[in-house]
Amino acid sequence: MVKYLLLLLVCFLAYAFIKTKGRKISKRPSDGGHSSPAVEDMARCAHCGVHFPLSEGVRSSGQIFCSSEHRKERDKTPS
Ligand SMILES: [Zn+2]
Repeated sequence: MVKYLLLLLVCFLAYAFIKTKGRKISKRPSDGGHSSPAVEDMARCAHCGVHFPLSEGVRSSGQIFCSSEHRKERDKTPS
């Protein structure tokens, strides 16, 4: 009986090992280097210069800002 339990444990450990290993491989970025489709495009705030995901940005007259506050801030101070 103990033999079977040990066998089961070994099988479980092997399964867990393969599972975690597979996850690590799939997480690794593609070694092409030309394009990175998995990574979201980043943009730079025209007001404070912070980098943020493009989808979270606020666009205004050809410029992009990290938040609507900074868009308003930029509108207030003409330069
Ligand atoms: Zn900003």
